[in-house]
Amino acid sequence: MGLVERERVRSFTVGQATITRVEETYLPSYPLTQIFPEFTAAHRAEHEHWLAPHHYEAETGKIKLAVHSWLLKIGGQTILIDACCGNNKVKPGRPFWNMLNEPYLERLAAAGAQPEEIDMVMCTHLHHDHVGWNTQQKDGKWVPTFPNARYVFSRPDVDYFSRLDASDEGPAELGTFRECVVPILEYGRADLVDGPHRLNEFIEIEPAPGHSPGHVFFKLESKGERGVFIGDVWHHLLQVYYPDWNFPKNSDPVQARVSRRKVLDWCAATGALVMPGHVGLPFAGRIEKVADGYKADFPA
Ligand SMILES: [Zn+2]
Repeated sequence: MGLVERERVRSFTVGQATITRVEETYLPSYPLTQIFPEFTAAHRAEHEHWLAPHHYEAETGKIKLAVHSWLLKIGGQTILIDACCGNNKVKPGRPFWNMLNEPYLERLAAAGAQPEEIDMVMCTHLHHDHVGWNTQQKDGKWVPTFPNARYVFSRPDVDYFSRLDASDEGPAELGTFRECVVPILEYGRADLVDGPHRLNEFIEIEPAPGHSPGHVFFKLESKGERGVFIGDVWHHLLQVYYPDWNFPKNSDPVQARVSRRKVLDWCAATGALVMPGHVGLPFAGRIEKVADGYKADFPA
């Protein structure tokens, strides 16, 4: 495996858990100043030592975002956290994710799992870039990609996107709700969770609403060590330093800020290994509380 391919399946451990990142894409996407209009020359001076090249592309002024899943093995179970965009999907306004043709399932195999070995798929929320590989089209029908998996979805997100999908604003999430979530519900493969929920001895599900109404994060504990899968509580490390800076597209921007601070506080207090949904290399790290806020410890 070449260097680039190795980065795409980088591994971490938390106690007895092994966690491997399965990359779909890692590309310059949106102009930084479009996403964070608050960003000034003073912010640039303070943060430019870590922004490029892993979190920002200086030549184009664009932020770099990864899209990946986390493959978690713990207690004899194989769990896939978030399911990326998927291939061959039309994504208006998102040229970097449009009509992808990525060897995602080959990377998943390189990370140590065939689709039939996945016991559980857990989505932090039901946006289009977190549900894509839930299903695949076979003989004109959308069927589960992971035939033996239970799929864990947050009920408030299922309810919200069901309503949105049926409204004049539908189809929800560029059609991915119908293609990648509804078939899982119809096949009876989904377990819907509400509120704080202990999944098993290692994993707890906690609400962190605001980016979507049912956005959740997953706390992991093994042998006294902690990890956390935060989805899109923050997309970019600048939001660790400026927790009030929202990434666009929130169901409730005020609630998104409250959730971000709650999760940052928990991460700082526990020293958990933090695994976000889109942060660039090294993709996982820790949060420190400092006098005037928080600091990201994600050494590349
Ligand atoms: Zn996302």
